[in-house]
Amino acid sequence: MATIAIEVKALQKSQLPCPAHSRFPPMTSAPIKIPLVDLTCQHQPIQTQLETAIQAVIQRGDFVLGKALAEFEAAFASACASEYGVGVGCGTEAIALALSAAGIGSGDEVILPANTFVATLIGVIRAGATPVLVDCEEETALCDLAAVEKAITSKTRAIIPVHLYGQMVSPRLLIDLAERYNLVIIEDAAQAHLAEREGAIAGSFGTAAAFSFYPSKNLGGFGDGGMVVTRNPDIARKVRSLRNYGAPQKYLHADLGTNSRLDTIQAAILNVKLPYLQEWNRQRQQAAKIYDTLLAPLRSFGIIPIQNYSGKGHVYHLYVIRITNDCPVNRQTLQEKLRQQGIETGIHYPLPCHLQPAYRYLGYQKGDFPRAETLSQQILSLPMYPGLTPAQVECVVSAIAAIIS
Ligand SMILES: *Cc1c(COP(=O)(O)O)cnc(C)c1O
Repeated sequence: MATIAIEVKALQKSQLPCPAHSRFPPMTSAPIKIPLVDLTCQHQPIQTQLETAIQAVIQRGDFVLGKALAEFEAAFASACASEYGVGVGCGTEAIALALSAAGIGSGDEVILPANTFVATLIGVIRAGATPVLVDCEEETALCDLAAVEKAITSKTRAIIPVHLYGQMVSPRLLIDLAERYNLVIIEDAAQAHLAEREGAIAGSFGTAAAFSFYPSKNLGGFGDGGMVVTRNPDIARKVRSLRNYGAPQKYLHADLGTNSRLDTIQAAILNVKLPYLQEWNRQRQQAAKIYDTLLAPLRSFGIIPIQNYSGKGHVYHLYVIRITNDCPVNRQTLQEKLRQQGIETGIHYPLPCHLQPAYRYLGYQKGDFPRAETLSQQILSLPMYPGLTPAQVECVVSAIAAIIS
């Protein structure tokens, strides 16, 4: 405990009292000083630009499949170093429509990690394909590619690597696997806008990629939204049809489609925000670096950050630590005590996909994916958003250090 006491003292001297967040005036009962996510930091400085863009859509009146959508589709695909972008209703639909457009559906097996947001699984089921879950790696929480290879059967058609928390699954290893088994890769890049690994940008190397623009994602709209990004013109054309009642031209319904389009007004908002994305990611990375440094001494107390094996390309949608059994305080207590001090945390995700009640019919059981199950018990997401200050990060870490010592 000697080391940690010194660390805490040093931090407390330099940082206390914690800088209260300007948005939250002091209250009598547990005010949240540092939220898990704060979107006002990104929106306030560009509010006029956002309002002007929204006004322009109202003036044009092209609310569905309008000009701003076409512009955003081109700009976002280009930012991902890809060719085509097709805006859809949300990230979940992006996964389903990308699979359908690649000709994957009933009777086809699709491999995905058990440790992901349930939307990845929903996308597969919506496409009519059979989901096959696999375990994750302990250190990175990413899909275990050795487990993927073991799960491949004669029916396997696709893999969905999930670039979880902002860190990509290795493109090199994925491409190698896909080539050896002739598989389609649909990247779930919902948490990895502009992430990079081995020289590839998220969304640029798969057969297609699914993005979400849910408000709290690294690039988020003012509601739901998503996009399929691809270099393949046939897949792009097919998703364009599928999202629009399966009609490649008006009133000719050649495909079994649906209605799932990205609203023009959301695209206009996202167009304003896209140029700032790189800087916002940089701010996330800067905060992560400070977390890394300050949390290092807590490793001997069982606090272990999820590892970054992709260097500068991790875009830290979330900053996640593990509270292992070596930690003198359990996760629930730590989370509760942080909350009492006005520090909000999250758990992404408390119950892995295979143990969710709705998916019992898939036949998985407790114990099937031990690493995903253990992680779900240990993980804690710390405050992370562009605009989170170094002082706030220090405040979070000093609070953790004080609680566990
Ligand atoms: C958010 C998310 C999705 C789903 O996106 P929605 O736009 O909410 O439908 C899919 N996969 C992952 C990993 C996500 O984080």
